[in-house]
Amino acid sequence: MARVIIIGGGASGLVSAIIARKKNHDVLILERNSICGKKILSTGNGRCNYFNDDQNIKHYHSCDEDFLSRIITDQRIEEVLTFFHQLGIIPKIKEGYYYPYSNQAISIQNTLVEEAKRLGVQIVYDTFVSLIKKDLSGYIIETVNETFQADRVILATGGMANPKLGNDGKGYSLAESLGHTVIKPLPALVQLNTTGRFLKEWSGIRADVKIKLCQDDQFVQEESGEILLTNYGVSGICVMQLSGFVARGLDEGKREQLVINFLPQFASNRQEFIQFMDDRNQLLSNRNISQLLDSILNYKLVHVLIKSASLAGSIRWDQLTIREKSILASCFVEFRLDVISTNSFQKAQVTSGGIPLSEIDMETMESKIVDDLYFAGEILDVNGDCGGYNLTFAWISGLVAGRVGENA
Ligand SMILES: Cc1cc2nc3c(=O)[nH]c(=O)nc-3n(C[C@H](O)[C@H](O)[C@H](O)COP(=O)(O)OP(=O)(O)OC[C@H]3O[C@@H](n4cnc5c(N)ncnc54)[C@H](O)[C@@H]3O)c2cc1C
Repeated sequence: MARVIIIGGGASGLVSAIIARKKNHDVLILERNSICGKKILSTGNGRCNYFNDDQNIKHYHSCDEDFLSRIITDQRIEEVLTFFHQLGIIPKIKEGYYYPYSNQAISIQNTLVEEAKRLGVQIVYDTFVSLIKKDLSGYIIETVNETFQADRVILATGGMANPKLGNDGKGYSLAESLGHTVIKPLPALVQLNTTGRFLKEWSGIRADVKIKLCQDDQFVQEESGEILLTNYGVSGICVMQLSGFVARGLDEGKREQLVINFLPQFASNRQEFIQFMDDRNQLLSNRNISQLLDSILNYKLVHVLIKSASLAGSIRWDQLTIREKSILASCFVEFRLDVISTNSFQKAQVTSGGIPLSEIDMETMESKIVDDLYFAGEILDVNGDCGGYNLTFAWISGLVAGRVGENA
């Protein structure tokens, strides 16, 4: 039996505490907030989307992508489901997205905290860990009021997203003080600030689009779904899915451009748009270009897109030159926006970057740099798509890290 201290009682810390206690270790969580799992309460708009049926590895991202398939294995995914089943969590599954049946995030948070307590995990709240040292007898962990000793430590302090919930990146400096490096943490799953003459005019409009990200004119990824056009740029789940790539690209000095198709159901390129408009024009004679598009897109958006082609909505389709048709087509199906920045960590749901996977043993989540130090959760350089993937990574890494010393 070892004395295990877990720094951070969030999603991954709670799971690793439960597993470590089941292995009969003496387990203590040090948590800076006055409750454990505060962030869990905010997840999934208060409903906690804690898992997803689609566990394709493409939903997880890291600067060391090659390591991902060694952490997120089919067996570990199964273990997550078994773990929650054994805790009595019944899922409500909507299109593969898992929520607790109660539709309340507190069901997950409370179940984890109560299970940890029931097993005898000790928790010290309102305790900010400021220093870790290692000597021959083990780890010395300093907080403002007290010093703790441990044989093994699990660092589960999360990343930097949404700092008011307890994450200010302190975990990175604790890891650095023990010899680890840190891949620059950047916001992910966050809104994008763009250039654009029409941001004020289109603010508040929602549209179902296909949206492509290009870095230095090279295609990176395409998403489809609803976006929200705002006075600073764009938001919505499919935009947020691209934001991790954007943040990293901007940090590397790349040009980040979004290419939006506002009519994906009707035309996938300029030529198809022109054909579509030819057909509409034949069907609906005596209408101007604005009227031809009226029932298809938001009225205000049609106005903005026609204006961005430097045309008047009152003009008729057959009065346009070939060049004007092509310009109009590009505004509707290849609308380009340069991204200036992502929104800050305050608005981000997760962090990209963190402790490199190359410094961790994938079998145990133990540090390769220093003995008896383990990592779990968002502090590691792994971030997932929207849809339950970030919590799934927290659960998986927590389950593995919690088996501290199993292979020692
Ligand atoms: C608004 C929002 C909605 C989200 N929705 C979803 C969702 O629906 N599905 C999904 O999969 N993911 C979602 N996420 C992401 C998910 O919540 C996180 O990826 C996950 O909680 C990370 O778990 P973790 O254990 O690494 O960190 P956390 O859960 O953040 O826990 C870290 C803990 O460490 C504590 N801590 C930090 N530093 C110290 C210190 N020095 N001393 C002591 N304690 C410390 C913190 O107070 C915190 O309690 C959402 C995130 C946000 C912000």
